[in-house]
Amino acid sequence: GEPICECYDCYVGADCAELSPGCAADANSGDPIFMEPFWMQNAADSAVVISGWHRMSYRYADYTTMSIELEKYIRKMHSIVGNAVTEGRYLVFGIGSTQLLNAAVYALSSENSSTPSNVLASIPFYSIYKAQTMFFNSENFQFEGDTNSWQSNNSTNNMDVVEFVTSPNNPDGELKTSVLGGKTIYDHAYFWPHFTPITGPSDHDLMIFTLSKLTGHAGTRFGWAVIKDKDVYEKVLNYISVADLGISKDTQLRVLKLLKKAVEGDGKPIFEFAYNKMRDRWERLSSVFSKSTRFSIQQRHPLHCNFFNETRLPSPAYAWVKCEREEESDCGAVLEAGNIKGRSGSIFSAKDRYVRLSLIKSQDDFELLLQRLTELVSLENSGV
Ligand code: PMP
Repeated sequence: GEPICECYDCYVGADCAELSPGCAADANSGDPIFMEPFWMQNAADSAVVISGWHRMSYRYADYTTMSIELEKYIRKMHSIVGNAVTEGRYLVFGIGSTQLLNAAVYALSSENSSTPSNVLASIPFYSIYKAQTMFFNSENFQFEGDTNSWQSNNSTNNMDVVEFVTSPNNPDGELKTSVLGGKTIYDHAYFWPHFTPITGPSDHDLMIFTLSKLTGHAGTRFGWAVIKDKDVYEKVLNYISVADLGISKDTQLRVLKLLKKAVEGDGKPIFEFAYNKMRDRWERLSSVFSKSTRFSIQQRHPLHCNFFNETRLPSPAYAWVKCEREEESDCGAVLEAGNIKGRSGSIFSAKDRYVRLSLIKSQDDFELLLQRLTELVSLENSGV
Protein backbone atom coordinates (compact mmCIF):
# COMPACT_ATOMS: atom_id res chain seq x y z
CA GLY A 1 0.00 0.00 0.00
CA GLU A 2 0.89 3.65 0.38
CA PRO A 3 3.99 4.49 2.44
CA ILE A 4 2.99 6.07 5.74
CA CYS A 5 5.60 8.77 5.51
CA GLU A 6 8.72 9.68 3.57
CA CYS A 7 12.13 8.57 4.78
CA TYR A 8 14.91 11.01 5.67
CA ASP A 9 17.53 11.83 3.04
CA CYS A 10 19.69 8.75 2.93
CA TYR A 11 17.27 6.10 4.10
CA VAL A 12 14.97 3.76 2.19
CA GLY A 13 12.81 0.69 2.86
CA ALA A 14 9.45 0.15 4.56
CA ASP A 15 10.70 1.24 7.98
CA CYS A 16 13.32 3.65 6.64
CA ALA A 17 16.08 1.60 8.25
CA GLU A 18 18.17 0.85 5.16
CA LEU A 19 20.82 3.19 3.86
CA SER A 20 20.29 4.08 0.24
CA PRO A 21 23.32 2.74 -1.63
CA GLY A 22 24.14 5.85 -3.64
CA CYS A 23 23.86 8.30 -0.81
CA ALA A 24 27.00 10.33 -0.14
CA ALA A 25 28.44 10.89 3.33
CA ASP A 26 28.84 14.63 3.82
CA ALA A 27 31.79 15.31 6.13
CA ASN A 28 32.54 18.76 4.77
CA SER A 29 31.22 21.24 7.31
CA GLY A 30 32.37 21.75 10.90
CA ASP A 31 28.86 22.06 12.28
CA PRO A 32 29.12 20.72 15.86
CA ILE A 33 25.80 18.84 16.04
CA PHE A 34 27.42 15.97 18.01
CA MET A 35 26.47 17.82 21.23
CA GLU A 36 22.74 17.83 20.42
CA PRO A 37 21.88 14.72 22.49
CA PHE A 38 23.39 16.32 25.61
CA TRP A 39 21.11 19.33 25.24
CA MET A 40 18.12 17.09 24.53
CA GLN A 41 18.79 15.37 27.84
CA ASN A 42 18.86 18.81 29.48
CA ALA A 43 16.08 20.38 27.43
CA ALA A 44 14.03 22.01 30.17
CA ASP A 45 16.99 23.33 32.15
CA SER A 46 18.60 24.94 29.15
CA ALA A 47 15.55 26.61 27.60
CA VAL A 48 15.28 30.40 27.43
CA VAL A 49 12.02 32.36 27.22
CA ILE A 50 12.13 36.13 26.64
CA SER A 51 8.99 38.24 27.03
CA GLY A 52 8.25 40.85 24.38
CA TRP A 53 8.87 43.77 26.74
CA HIS A 54 12.05 42.36 28.17
CA ARG A 55 15.60 43.58 27.46
CA MET A 56 14.64 46.13 24.85
CA SER A 57 17.40 48.60 25.65
CA TYR A 58 20.73 48.97 23.84
CA ARG A 59 22.40 48.74 27.23
CA TYR A 60 21.65 50.39 30.59
CA ALA A 61 20.50 48.16 33.42
CA ASP A 62 20.00 44.99 31.37
CA TYR A 63 23.42 45.32 29.85
CA THR A 64 25.47 45.72 32.95
CA THR A 65 23.94 43.07 35.16
CA MET A 66 23.54 40.34 32.58
CA SER A 67 26.80 40.88 30.72
CA ILE A 68 28.77 40.99 33.97
CA GLU A 69 27.06 37.76 35.03
CA LEU A 70 27.96 36.20 31.69
CA GLU A 71 31.60 37.28 32.05
CA LYS A 72 31.61 35.66 35.47
CA TYR A 73 30.43 32.34 34.03
CA ILE A 74 32.95 32.44 31.19
CA ARG A 75 35.76 32.95 33.73
CA LYS A 76 34.30 30.20 35.87
CA MET A 77 34.24 27.83 32.89
CA HIS A 78 37.92 28.56 32.17
CA SER A 79 38.90 28.03 35.78
CA ILE A 80 37.01 24.71 36.02
CA VAL A 81 38.59 23.42 32.81
CA GLY A 82 41.99 24.99 33.49
CA ASN A 83 42.50 25.92 29.84
CA ALA A 84 43.09 29.68 30.13
CA VAL A 85 44.22 32.31 32.59
CA THR A 86 41.45 34.91 32.92
CA GLU A 87 42.31 36.63 36.22
CA GLY A 88 43.22 40.24 35.59
CA ARG A 89 42.36 39.89 31.89
CA TYR A 90 39.80 41.78 29.84
CA LEU A 91 36.97 40.00 28.01
CA VAL A 92 35.29 41.16 24.81
CA PHE A 93 32.26 39.41 23.29
CA GLY A 94 31.87 38.94 19.54
CA ILE A 95 29.39 37.65 16.97
CA GLY A 96 30.95 34.22 16.91
CA SER A 97 34.70 34.12 17.24
CA THR A 98 34.76 34.95 13.53
CA GLN A 99 34.12 38.63 14.21
CA LEU A 100 36.83 38.72 16.86
CA LEU A 101 39.45 37.29 14.50
CA ASN A 102 39.40 40.42 12.38
CA ALA A 103 38.92 42.68 15.39
CA ALA A 104 42.16 41.17 16.71
CA VAL A 105 44.02 41.71 13.43
CA TYR A 106 42.88 45.34 13.49
CA ALA A 107 43.90 45.80 17.13
CA LEU A 108 47.38 44.30 16.71
CA SER A 109 48.27 46.03 13.46
CA SER A 110 50.44 49.11 13.62
CA GLU A 111 48.52 52.29 12.83
CA ASN A 112 51.25 54.76 12.03
CA SER A 113 53.82 52.71 10.21
CA SER A 114 54.35 53.45 6.50
CA THR A 115 53.95 49.79 5.59
CA PRO A 116 51.11 47.48 6.61
CA SER A 117 51.58 44.80 9.30
CA ASN A 118 52.08 41.29 7.91
CA VAL A 119 49.36 38.80 8.83
CA LEU A 120 50.44 35.15 8.67
CA ALA A 121 49.45 31.61 9.63
CA SER A 122 51.09 28.19 9.37
CA ILE A 123 49.98 25.77 6.65
CA PRO A 124 47.60 23.98 6.93
CA PHE A 125 45.45 26.81 8.30
CA TYR A 126 41.76 27.71 8.66
CA SER A 127 40.76 29.52 5.46
CA ILE A 128 38.82 32.38 7.08
CA TYR A 129 42.05 34.03 8.30
CA LYS A 130 43.08 34.71 4.74
CA ALA A 131 39.59 35.40 3.38
CA GLN A 132 38.82 37.90 6.14
CA THR A 133 42.13 39.73 6.14
CA MET A 134 41.88 40.20 2.38
CA PHE A 135 38.18 41.14 2.46
CA PHE A 136 38.65 43.78 5.19
CA ASN A 137 41.53 45.16 3.15
CA SER A 138 43.19 47.96 5.10
CA GLU A 139 46.18 50.27 4.95
CA ASN A 140 47.28 48.85 8.30
CA PHE A 141 47.45 45.11 7.55
CA GLN A 142 47.88 42.65 4.69
CA PHE A 143 47.77 38.88 4.45
CA GLU A 144 51.22 37.48 3.80
CA GLY A 145 50.42 33.75 3.81
CA ASP A 146 52.49 30.98 5.32
CA THR A 147 54.80 31.59 8.28
CA ASN A 148 57.42 29.10 7.11
CA SER A 149 57.92 30.47 3.62
CA TRP A 150 57.88 34.01 5.02
CA GLN A 151 60.59 33.11 7.50
CA SER A 152 62.91 31.88 4.79
CA ASN A 153 62.20 34.81 2.43
CA ASN A 154 62.31 37.54 5.02
CA SER A 155 65.85 38.85 4.68
CA THR A 156 64.97 42.28 6.11
CA ASN A 157 64.09 40.85 9.52
CA ASN A 158 60.75 42.64 9.44
CA MET A 159 59.07 41.74 12.71
CA ASP A 160 55.87 43.72 12.20
CA VAL A 161 53.84 40.51 12.14
CA VAL A 162 50.48 39.32 13.41
CA GLU A 163 50.52 35.54 13.54
CA PHE A 164 47.44 33.34 13.82
CA VAL A 165 48.21 30.38 16.06
CA THR A 166 45.41 27.83 16.00
CA SER A 167 45.76 25.46 18.90
CA PRO A 168 44.48 22.79 18.49
CA ASN A 169 44.74 23.39 14.78
CA ASN A 170 41.93 23.23 12.27
CA PRO A 171 42.31 20.99 10.19
CA ASP A 172 44.90 18.62 11.76
CA GLY A 173 44.39 18.98 15.54
CA GLU A 174 48.04 19.88 16.29
CA LEU A 175 48.73 21.90 19.42
CA LYS A 176 50.54 24.75 17.72
CA THR A 177 52.79 27.46 19.11
CA SER A 178 54.05 30.66 17.56
CA VAL A 179 56.85 30.26 15.03
CA LEU A 180 57.65 33.91 14.28
CA GLY A 181 57.88 35.33 17.81
CA GLY A 182 55.97 38.54 16.99
CA LYS A 183 52.40 39.46 17.92
CA THR A 184 50.02 36.50 18.09
CA ILE A 185 46.33 35.71 17.97
CA TYR A 186 45.76 32.41 19.73
CA ASP A 187 42.64 30.84 18.24
CA HIS A 188 41.56 28.37 20.92
CA ALA A 189 38.24 27.35 19.32
CA TYR A 190 39.07 23.67 19.94
CA PHE A 191 40.95 24.00 23.24
CA TRP A 192 38.39 22.04 25.27
CA PRO A 193 38.72 18.62 26.95
CA HIS A 194 36.60 16.77 24.38
CA PHE A 195 39.09 17.56 21.61
CA THR A 196 42.45 17.65 23.36
CA PRO A 197 44.05 16.86 26.70
CA ILE A 198 44.25 20.13 28.66
CA THR A 199 47.91 20.27 29.62
CA GLY A 200 47.67 23.62 31.41
CA PRO A 201 46.12 27.06 31.26
CA SER A 202 46.94 29.09 28.14
CA ASP A 203 48.44 32.42 29.13
CA HIS A 204 48.84 34.35 25.89
CA ASP A 205 48.27 38.07 25.28
CA LEU A 206 45.26 37.58 23.04
CA MET A 207 43.21 34.38 23.08
CA ILE A 208 39.97 33.73 21.24
CA PHE A 209 37.30 31.19 22.20
CA THR A 210 33.89 30.28 20.81
CA LEU A 211 30.67 28.85 22.15
CA SER A 212 30.34 26.96 18.84
CA LYS A 213 32.89 24.27 19.70
CA LEU A 214 32.36 24.39 23.47
CA THR A 215 28.63 23.67 23.80
CA GLY A 216 27.89 23.08 20.09
CA HIS A 217 25.70 26.19 19.67
CA ALA A 218 27.29 27.47 16.47
CA GLY A 219 24.04 29.13 15.38
CA THR A 220 23.96 31.32 18.48
CA ARG A 221 26.98 33.17 17.04
CA PHE A 222 28.89 33.91 20.21
CA GLY A 223 32.60 34.10 20.91
CA TRP A 224 34.92 35.92 23.31
CA ALA A 225 38.44 37.27 23.42
CA VAL A 226 40.64 37.15 26.54
CA ILE A 227 43.06 40.07 26.42
CA LYS A 228 46.02 41.01 28.59
CA ASP A 229 46.83 44.52 27.41
CA LYS A 230 44.47 47.46 28.07
CA ASP A 231 45.21 49.27 24.80
CA VAL A 232 44.58 46.14 22.73
CA TYR A 233 41.37 45.53 24.71
CA GLU A 234 40.14 49.04 23.96
CA LYS A 235 40.84 48.64 20.26
CA VAL A 236 38.98 45.31 20.06
CA LEU A 237 36.08 46.84 22.00
CA ASN A 238 36.07 49.84 19.67
CA TYR A 239 35.93 47.55 16.63
CA ILE A 240 32.86 45.78 18.05
CA SER A 241 31.18 49.10 18.97
CA VAL A 242 31.72 50.60 15.53
CA ALA A 243 30.72 47.40 13.74
CA ASP A 244 27.50 46.67 15.64
CA LEU A 245 27.06 48.55 18.95
CA GLY A 246 27.65 45.34 20.87
CA ILE A 247 26.42 41.75 20.89
CA SER A 248 22.72 40.80 20.93
CA LYS A 249 21.39 40.67 24.50
CA ASP A 250 19.06 37.83 23.50
CA THR A 251 22.14 35.87 22.48
CA GLN A 252 23.94 36.74 25.71
CA LEU A 253 20.95 35.59 27.75
CA ARG A 254 20.93 32.25 25.96
CA VAL A 255 24.67 31.81 26.38
CA LEU A 256 24.34 32.55 30.10
CA LYS A 257 21.67 29.86 30.44
CA LEU A 258 23.78 27.32 28.55
CA LEU A 259 26.94 28.07 30.53
CA LYS A 260 25.09 27.81 33.85
CA LYS A 261 24.14 24.29 32.80
CA ALA A 262 27.57 23.49 31.43
CA VAL A 263 29.45 24.40 34.64
CA GLU A 264 27.21 22.17 36.77
CA GLY A 265 29.11 19.32 38.40
CA ASP A 266 32.29 21.24 37.60
CA GLY A 267 31.74 20.52 33.93
CA LYS A 268 32.03 16.75 34.34
CA PRO A 269 28.63 15.88 32.75
CA ILE A 270 29.05 17.92 29.58
CA PHE A 271 32.73 17.18 28.98
CA GLU A 272 32.34 13.48 29.73
CA PHE A 273 29.47 13.31 27.28
CA ALA A 274 31.38 15.18 24.60
CA TYR A 275 34.70 13.40 25.18
CA ASN A 276 33.13 9.92 25.16
CA LYS A 277 31.41 10.68 21.90
CA MET A 278 34.62 11.93 20.26
CA ARG A 279 36.68 9.03 21.68
CA ASP A 280 34.21 6.45 20.33
CA ARG A 281 34.28 8.08 16.91
CA TRP A 282 38.08 8.16 16.87
CA GLU A 283 38.36 4.52 17.96
CA ARG A 284 36.09 3.37 15.16
CA LEU A 285 37.72 5.67 12.61
CA SER A 286 41.25 4.57 13.57
CA SER A 287 40.25 0.96 13.27
CA VAL A 288 39.08 1.52 9.67
CA PHE A 289 42.23 3.45 8.69
CA SER A 290 44.49 0.86 10.35
CA LYS A 291 43.40 -1.58 7.62
CA SER A 292 44.44 0.79 4.85
CA THR A 293 47.72 1.59 3.15
CA ARG A 294 46.02 3.76 0.52
CA PHE A 295 44.80 6.31 3.08
CA SER A 296 46.30 7.55 6.32
CA ILE A 297 45.19 9.96 9.04
CA GLN A 298 47.15 12.18 11.41
CA GLN A 299 49.07 10.58 14.27
CA ARG A 300 47.81 11.22 17.78
CA HIS A 301 50.05 11.40 20.84
CA PRO A 302 48.87 10.93 24.44
CA LEU A 303 49.23 13.84 26.87
CA HIS A 304 48.26 14.39 30.47
CA CYS A 305 44.86 16.06 30.77
CA ASN A 306 44.62 18.14 33.94
CA PHE A 307 40.87 18.36 33.63
CA PHE A 308 40.25 14.59 33.54
CA ASN A 309 43.39 13.98 35.61
CA GLU A 310 44.48 11.23 33.24
CA THR A 311 46.76 10.68 30.27
CA ARG A 312 44.64 10.57 27.15
CA LEU A 313 44.83 10.65 23.38
CA PRO A 314 43.48 13.77 21.69
CA SER A 315 40.22 13.31 19.77
CA PRO A 316 40.29 16.15 17.23
CA ALA A 317 37.23 17.58 15.55
CA TYR A 318 38.56 16.58 12.13
CA ALA A 319 40.38 13.73 10.49
CA TRP A 320 43.17 15.00 8.22
CA VAL A 321 43.28 12.30 5.58
CA LYS A 322 46.19 11.74 3.21
CA CYS A 323 46.02 9.76 -0.02
CA GLU A 324 49.26 7.79 -0.02
CA ARG A 325 49.35 6.57 -3.64
CA GLU A 326 51.60 8.73 -5.80
CA GLU A 327 49.02 9.05 -8.57
CA GLU A 328 46.19 10.00 -6.22
CA SER A 329 47.18 13.63 -5.76
CA ASP A 330 43.57 14.83 -5.76
CA CYS A 331 42.41 13.08 -2.62
CA GLY A 332 39.08 14.93 -2.58
CA ALA A 333 38.20 13.40 -5.95
CA VAL A 334 39.25 9.93 -4.75
CA LEU A 335 36.97 10.18 -1.72
CA GLU A 336 34.18 11.76 -3.79
CA ALA A 337 34.28 8.70 -6.06
CA GLY A 338 33.76 6.66 -2.89
CA ASN A 339 30.72 8.79 -2.04
CA ILE A 340 32.46 10.82 0.66
CA LYS A 341 32.42 14.60 0.68
CA GLY A 342 35.31 16.26 2.50
CA ARG A 343 37.14 19.59 2.34
CA SER A 344 40.20 19.61 0.10
CA GLY A 345 43.66 20.46 1.38
CA SER A 346 44.02 23.50 -0.89
CA ILE A 347 41.26 25.24 1.10
CA PHE A 348 43.74 25.13 4.01
CA SER A 349 46.56 26.29 1.70
CA ALA A 350 47.92 22.72 1.81
CA LYS A 351 48.17 20.08 -0.95
CA ASP A 352 45.07 18.44 -2.39
CA ARG A 353 46.66 15.14 -1.43
CA TYR A 354 45.01 15.93 1.92
CA VAL A 355 41.31 16.14 2.77
CA ARG A 356 39.62 17.20 5.99
CA LEU A 357 36.71 15.08 7.23
CA SER A 358 34.43 16.48 9.91
CA LEU A 359 33.81 14.21 12.91
CA ILE A 360 31.55 16.58 14.85
CA LYS A 361 28.34 16.27 12.88
CA SER A 362 25.30 14.18 13.90
CA GLN A 363 25.51 10.48 14.72
CA ASP A 364 23.71 9.63 11.44
CA ASP A 365 26.27 11.63 9.49
CA PHE A 366 29.11 9.87 11.29
CA GLU A 367 27.61 6.40 10.78
CA LEU A 368 27.26 7.04 7.07
CA LEU A 369 30.81 8.39 6.86
CA LEU A 370 32.17 5.32 8.62
CA GLN A 371 30.19 3.01 6.35
CA ARG A 372 31.50 4.70 3.19
CA LEU A 373 35.08 4.66 4.52
CA THR A 374 34.75 0.97 5.41
CA GLU A 375 33.53 0.23 1.87
CA LEU A 376 36.43 2.17 0.36
CA VAL A 377 39.04 0.40 2.48
CA SER A 378 37.55 -3.06 1.90
CA LEU A 379 37.69 -2.38 -1.85
CA GLU A 380 41.39 -1.73 -1.45
CA ASN A 381 41.86 -4.99 0.44
CA SER A 382 39.91 -7.06 -2.05
CA GLY A 383 42.54 -6.03 -4.60
CA VAL A 384 40.51 -3.55 -6.67
N1 PMP B 1 38.36 29.38 14.48
C1 PMP B 1 38.45 28.13 14.05
C2 PMP B 1 39.77 27.46 14.07
C3 PMP B 1 37.31 27.46 13.57
O1 PMP B 1 37.43 26.21 13.11
C4 PMP B 1 36.06 28.13 13.57
C5 PMP B 1 34.78 27.47 13.11
N2 PMP B 1 34.86 26.47 12.19
C6 PMP B 1 36.04 29.45 14.01
C7 PMP B 1 37.20 30.04 14.48
C8 PMP B 1 34.80 30.30 13.96
O2 PMP B 1 33.77 29.86 14.75
P1 PMP B 1 32.58 30.79 15.26
O3 PMP B 1 32.52 32.04 14.41
O4 PMP B 1 31.37 29.96 15.13
O5 PMP B 1 32.90 31.13 16.65
